[in-house]
Amino acid sequence: MVKHSSRIHLSHSALKQNIRFIREKIGTHPVISSVVKANAFGHGIETFVPMAEKCGIRHFSVASSYEASEVKKAITHDDSRIMIMGILYPEDLPWVIDNEVSFFVFNFEQLELARKVAVDLGKQAVIHLELETGGNRTGLPSAELEKAVRFLKKHKNHLQFEGICTHFAGIESLANQFRILRQLKNFHDMYKRVRRVGHLPRMKHTACSAAALAFPDTVMDMVRIGTAQYGMWPSPDIYNMHLMQTGKVKDAPLKRVMSWKTDVMHLKKVKRDEFVGYGTSYQAPRDMTVAVLPLGYSNGYPKALSNRGYVLIHGKKAPVIGLVNMNVFMVDVSNIPDVSVGDEVVLIGKQRNNVITIKSFTEFTDAINNELVSRLPMAIPRRAVR
Ligand SMILES: *Cc1c(COP(=O)(O)O)cnc(C)c1O
Repeated sequence: MVKHSSRIHLSHSALKQNIRFIREKIGTHPVISSVVKANAFGHGIETFVPMAEKCGIRHFSVASSYEASEVKKAITHDDSRIMIMGILYPEDLPWVIDNEVSFFVFNFEQLELARKVAVDLGKQAVIHLELETGGNRTGLPSAELEKAVRFLKKHKNHLQFEGICTHFAGIESLANQFRILRQLKNFHDMYKRVRRVGHLPRMKHTACSAAALAFPDTVMDMVRIGTAQYGMWPSPDIYNMHLMQTGKVKDAPLKRVMSWKTDVMHLKKVKRDEFVGYGTSYQAPRDMTVAVLPLGYSNGYPKALSNRGYVLIHGKKAPVIGLVNMNVFMVDVSNIPDVSVGDEVVLIGKQRNNVITIKSFTEFTDAINNELVSRLPMAIPRRAVR
């Protein structure tokens, strides 16, 4: 097989630790649904899903029927379940229902359509009613709740009422607390209304990573965990709340699952006062040695790190100089002895005693952690490591 210009390694032990930590936080009852939308937050569905299964995960959440089909191909356990939380085109409903993939419903028409398809297939559609509690994104309008539940009750042979759920609008930031508390109250009130119709779902779920880690009241029968399982804290607020809850001043229970590597492609001696790369954004302040790396913004390395980012070579930090191009960028290796073409370069992760964190990227860009990782191209090969 031909070689790609960079590679991503996924640490099994880190993932195992993260799942163990999440389980400690939420207790034994709730199902952990591993959120693997956006190609498992850039970690790669194909590699990540079987790793998660090895850690005991049997439930996966995605944002589309396309992603559901990717997960379906990747799963290795017959009892692993898939749930679609986002876009589901009517033409995909037959595949989804036939494959027993569950899905969020947030309007009445979807419910009627699902019933028709389920009847045609002689199957049950597995439904999670997503309730509008104040997020004002997707969510079944409050006024349609009784009508929807009555419909589910009437057609229970073809519509399995598996869950009711909601999603919090920015629970990772304490500044949004007032809004979250109102959403939680609305959810409980709506659940009471469902109960009055006399047809209860098998489970209730509201919590994403931040909710599950810091707000026990939001943890119900299932938690939908993206960010945290990959070893990223949803926000500094949530990390600080963890420290307060445990009384520790420092703790690192979440381990980064991903590391991202490439190799030195070319070395160049540059004379003082020469410009490096496109334009005039970097002028050599002295004679220097520059390493050229074989990837750029088209490969997921943010252009915003031009003249700002760092990589690791021989365990030492080498600063990015000049602009990050489409397929190459340059780093200064003047202070790192004996660098050769082919030497390993760490873009994210550890090398000897140094580390480049995902968070360090976001100190220079407006991007949040999730944005950086989820944009890593599909084409980069991913591999599970111990
Ligand atoms: C993405 C998503 C999640 C996971 O969120 P994290 O904060 O990454 O854990 C949970 N629920 C829904 C509806 C989502 O879209």
